[in-house]
Amino acid sequence: MILEARDLTKRFPWGRTFTGARAWVRAVEGVSLEVAEGDTLALVGESGSGKTTTGRILAGLEAPTSGEVRYRGRALSALTGGAWREFRYGVQMVFQDSQASLNPRKTVAQILEVALSARGVAAGTRRDTAAQLLVEVGLEPPAVFLGRFPHQLSGGQRQRINVARSLAADPSVIIADEPVSALDLSVRAQILVLMQRLQRQRGVGYLFISHDLAVVRSVARRVAVMYLGRIVEEGPTEAVFDRPVHPYTEALLSATPVPNPRLARMRKRIILQGDVPSPVAPPPGCPFHPRCPIAQEICRREPPPLVDAGRGQTALCHFA
Ligand code: SF4
Repeated sequence: MILEARDLTKRFPWGRTFTGARAWVRAVEGVSLEVAEGDTLALVGESGSGKTTTGRILAGLEAPTSGEVRYRGRALSALTGGAWREFRYGVQMVFQDSQASLNPRKTVAQILEVALSARGVAAGTRRDTAAQLLVEVGLEPPAVFLGRFPHQLSGGQRQRINVARSLAADPSVIIADEPVSALDLSVRAQILVLMQRLQRQRGVGYLFISHDLAVVRSVARRVAVMYLGRIVEEGPTEAVFDRPVHPYTEALLSATPVPNPRLARMRKRIILQGDVPSPVAPPPGCPFHPRCPIAQEICRREPPPLVDAGRGQTALCHFA
């Protein structure tokens, strides 16, 4: 396994309660997951569910409050010197905001050459390697793009540059945080096809963070659903989409548009009551119980166990 998270938690300070005790935002609670070579794990959930914080911890951009991240079997906390550098290059991130991710004062050539120089590519070969990367991400002829600044590119072209920059580090894993959410539908499809092609050619693993279930279904082999900082269901994409076992997953899927109008009419829409509770004071027992359509008394009292639902699916639910 290239990248693993084991029982991660992340808390951010959030002022004080009326009794004077320190309050914490519980952004991530007991998250464990694995990203394998050449594979795609999608992390889905509403905004504020803890997906991005989990991704940032896995990329080494945030330290967990507890738990552990392992890269190629070794805990990040134990990596130093060359082993830490190997991790920093081996795990790259692609962000949603393609504009903010690129230095507006640098040309595409300079942006890519900085990334190549950090990896130790010789100065004399950086320009040629940058051109090859542009060809790899479909920006041809490269000579046209090397001299451009980010503001002279479209959103889709900028996201291709972000992908090219991450490839400059020759990564094993790319953590893509809503990489296509800000793009038009047609450009979105092109970037997804590009990412899938690069995975086939380079064997790179993806942690694909998204709130868009239709996109997730088209790219991921496995999917993990997050709610209030926890993974509430995980399993093979087909199994989770065809037979969700957690009521939250079922509600999320019931709100996803279906292209077939006949199927759309037949489908039962599950409307969740209320808002997502505050991560500063999550409800006791199962944190989903105030909104769960099938909650029972035990759900208000006891945290649910992780249940093996078969077909490789697991869920945090007393009744999965
Ligand atoms: Fe609903 Fe209870 Fe399952 Fe939580 S444990 S998802 S409240 S049924």
